[in-house]
Amino acid sequence: MYSNVNLYIDGQWREARDGRSLPVLDPSSGEVLGQVAHAGIADLDEALAAAERGFKTWRATSAFDRYKIMRKAAVLMRERADNIARLMTQEQGKPLAESKAETLAAADIIDWLAEEGRRSYGRIVPARADGVEQRVVMEPVGPVAAFTPWNFPINQVVRKLSSALAAGCSIIVKAPEETPASPAELIRAFADAGVPAGVIGLVYGVPAEISNYLIPHPIIRKVTFTGSTPVGKQLASLAGQHMKRATMELGGHAPAIVFADADIENAARLLVASKFRNAGQVCVSPTRFLIQREVFETFLQRFIELAGLIKVGNGLEDGVGMGPLAIDRRVPAVAALVDDARNAGATVHTGGKAIEGPGYFYPPTVISGLTRKMRIMNEEPFGPVALIIPFDTLEEVLEEANRLPFGLASYAFTSSSKTAQALSNGIEAGMLSINHLGIGLPELPFGGVKDSGYGSEGGTEAIEAYLNTKLVTHLG
Ligand code: NAD
Repeated sequence: MYSNVNLYIDGQWREARDGRSLPVLDPSSGEVLGQVAHAGIADLDEALAAAERGFKTWRATSAFDRYKIMRKAAVLMRERADNIARLMTQEQGKPLAESKAETLAAADIIDWLAEEGRRSYGRIVPARADGVEQRVVMEPVGPVAAFTPWNFPINQVVRKLSSALAAGCSIIVKAPEETPASPAELIRAFADAGVPAGVIGLVYGVPAEISNYLIPHPIIRKVTFTGSTPVGKQLASLAGQHMKRATMELGGHAPAIVFADADIENAARLLVASKFRNAGQVCVSPTRFLIQREVFETFLQRFIELAGLIKVGNGLEDGVGMGPLAIDRRVPAVAALVDDARNAGATVHTGGKAIEGPGYFYPPTVISGLTRKMRIMNEEPFGPVALIIPFDTLEEVLEEANRLPFGLASYAFTSSSKTAQALSNGIEAGMLSINHLGIGLPELPFGGVKDSGYGSEGGTEAIEAYLNTKLVTHLG
């Protein structure tokens, strides 16, 4: 059952001090599911004071004890996965199997970062002079402000939360107002596992109001954001003005390059599954499909065929492979990009028009005949739209792949190790996956370059982003 979602401040689940709340909508029907509490400045002040106290408690907790509490939260997430997945599908729209996979993946992320927290040692550097000891000590950066979006309501929080907690930081999470219940269940798992009061705060509200208040606040020492590049640039500059550490995981426009020597059937199957997962509302979603001319028609026809097999509907129903877009404003946003391309002469092979009726449904859409001037070739569609483009040579495809200011994920399919090597040297992106879909595991770095942001939310790099380095040199 979906119920109203409260704030979590200083170990208490409660409504906003001024009683404000906003409705949460079911994207499959547009109907109201419940209410989410909206924090005001009084709530933020309480959350900040609690985070300051929580940081003192948590940094004084041994890495081993932090690890034990975190591992318990992972166990609770696994035990509660069915209920949590249902809430996520109700509020976000993705098929139930995807919601469950996201919930279980969160448990794996918690486990891995809990372990890494036990291994964030410093080092001893041999000294030049007798009697000198030089120690490099890693210390938690301090209370963190985290801002997360609605496309992966749990995954976007758990990467930040687990890294912060493993490093010994406290954290205030501003989770998405559109999909608030499933991230609240993640926080509940940590609270029930025994994370002390004040270490984690959870707020919702007006995003700009909260970020403008928290980022400059002297208690906050680190900012982490996932969302669009324009908002990321604003928040990064605010963090810069106040000398706060920052991690920015922003937009992408991922190239997926298929060479004629690849297994075309395998490439088409994997890329269709990846493109339409979460209705394309994925920062690493493949968007520009760059297909070598000899196999262009074969790939295009197979892609259209496979896209046509996806059943679109309410994510709670059996057999549904793609749900609605998560929020109402995304339907006109995606439609405007597709219409712009069609009006400029592109061919829309399938989809291309919002599905009539209740809910925010937009079908799997496949487009060819694109030119670089079209908006969709330059702006992140963040929806179920595949752009299929031919190329002839390696040089030409590298130039197209690197043309945009983004550099998050990239994909390639080829049986030539020489081509694979050239791509791994030439692609300007934070991640490149060749001949399979291998991005997003907890133990692997996850992040972008250029306008896609900086910092990493996976691998050992994830925890480093929450640690300061201190040198202690001691002549004893
Ligand atoms: P948006 O740019 O208004 O918001 C994106 C996210 O940032 C939302 O979660 C929003 O709550 C948050 N946000 C917005 N302004 C903020 C502020 N001043 N302070 C703190 N947080 C703020 O766009 P939208 O309509 O919600 O989503 C559309 C675009 O956002 C997409 O086109 C996509 O590029 C991007 N997006 C990216 C991701 C990702 O995983 N990288 C996730 C969701 C959305």
